[in-house]
Amino acid sequence: MPALPQDTPVGIVGAGAMGAGIAQVAAQAGHPVRLFDIADGAAETAIGDIAGRLRRSAEKGRMSAEAAEAAIARLRPAGAMAELSGCGLLVEAVAERLDVKRNVFDALEAVCDREAILATNTSSLSIDAIARQLQAPGRVVGMHFFNPAPLMQLVEVVSGLLTDAEVAETIFATAAAWRKAPVHARSTPGLIVNRVARPFYAEALRLLEERASDPATLDAVMREGGGFRMGPLELTDLIGQDVNSAVTQAVFDAYFQDPRYRPSRVQVALVEAGRLGRKSGRGFYDYSGDTRAAPTSEAVQSAPPEITVAGDLAHAEPLVRRLQDAGVAVARADDGLGEIRLPSGGYLLPSDGRLASEVAAEYGASVVLFDLCLDYATAPRIAVAASDACQAATLNEAIGLLQAAGFAVSRLDDAPGLVVLRTVAMLANEAAEALHHGIAGAAGIDTAMTKGTNYPLGPLAWADALGADFVVAVLDNLAAVYGDARYRASPRLRRLALSGGRFHD
Ligand code: NAD
Repeated sequence: MPALPQDTPVGIVGAGAMGAGIAQVAAQAGHPVRLFDIADGAAETAIGDIAGRLRRSAEKGRMSAEAAEAAIARLRPAGAMAELSGCGLLVEAVAERLDVKRNVFDALEAVCDREAILATNTSSLSIDAIARQLQAPGRVVGMHFFNPAPLMQLVEVVSGLLTDAEVAETIFATAAAWRKAPVHARSTPGLIVNRVARPFYAEALRLLEERASDPATLDAVMREGGGFRMGPLELTDLIGQDVNSAVTQAVFDAYFQDPRYRPSRVQVALVEAGRLGRKSGRGFYDYSGDTRAAPTSEAVQSAPPEITVAGDLAHAEPLVRRLQDAGVAVARADDGLGEIRLPSGGYLLPSDGRLASEVAAEYGASVVLFDLCLDYATAPRIAVAASDACQAATLNEAIGLLQAAGFAVSRLDDAPGLVVLRTVAMLANEAAEALHHGIAGAAGIDTAMTKGTNYPLGPLAWADALGADFVVAVLDNLAAVYGDARYRASPRLRRLALSGGRFHD
């Protein structure tokens, strides 16, 4: 289906943060835009704010002054819903309440042309529940923008059971014409992003609960080892602990208390204490002064002059090259399972989701495990965990070796799957489950997670890079340690692991 023509008037209902952002996007894309809000003067204020933003953009050279003025001239406030009657697309962005949205759609159906598409920006409500009482529910579709709408590229185009396929296709093409990155999604709790992202927060919260490390260290490992733009805990401080916790609780309830989405006591305790994050001055971090808590890094140890790499380190092989480049003599042997043998008789291995203590029991020796990195060749930080009763010589050799290669080393308690690996495995698992349930396609899910949350790789592409069999092994190992159905592997992922398949061609 083609996009709506540029001269199609677009009506926006609700001139708050999202409605104003969407109005700006539509006006910049060339559409005449009419903005309506129930609060007197809110539409005029929003248009004034948009005009200010566009003129500042022009002053900074991000757009021409002519383009800014043309977009501003296309924006008009509507004094009543009836003034939206000639619009070909209506986008609703009022309060997130079913009764309020239903009333808005009843009113829109009464005033709009029969061919007009009615879109909702809802983050959590069912499209069918919003649309079902209408005479033509098939023209209701979700057009879920992210905040701030002018900057965030992702638009989830959401279809309910009642949504006409052509309507969803038209909105998809229109969002693309507005220079957004649209993805199709089925109407389900959390859609793609707010569902697949749950483990990003949940795993860090679990590690905090187990006192595996402190917030600054966990966040630093996720940023500097995992390549995420922000750590999960600092991100919850930015979003607001109350807001993030409410989304988690809503998704958990909507999926009938599936343990995959179980909320965290650690986060609920913050909310109860009023430590809501940046907006209240304190959450996981204290924002009252200029300094932020720093991650812990191990004191410098000397590296062993020579090591043996026995077997293939698989995804961690680039680490061997980095060690060699740092001047460590590396001998290779083929009688190992993918392990670094240290002079003390201990072992350094990539984590596979087991406890270091479990691996040590199997080897009958001291063991240090290291975390997943987005890129072992360049990552500035890495997390390690030692087995219980690990001899000091082995731990110091492992730390010194990684430091020699240029890593800042953060030691955690013996947490299975450390931080990055368990988070990535769980993100991939959740993405696989969303795919398995037909919520979206593989390309759509990865686009949603890279454009909607800025993850460095789509979770399914990451699973392809690691191998589905490895990801399933990590999940099975976590499930064995915790005895928790939260870590059960998606059948979709397990089947790929068995067949050697990939999510992407
Ligand atoms: P907001 O509170 O900033 O704005 C809502 C606006 O709607 C207010 O100006 C209010 O006066 C107006 N309004 C309320 N009832 C109305 C009615 N009956 N008719 C016309 N106007 C009415 O809210 P927001 O953050 O812009 O969110 C709007 C919608 O977008 C919600 O459904 C929300 O879930 C969704 N959403 C929000 C975000 C976000 O990060 N804020 C992101 C994606 C989606």
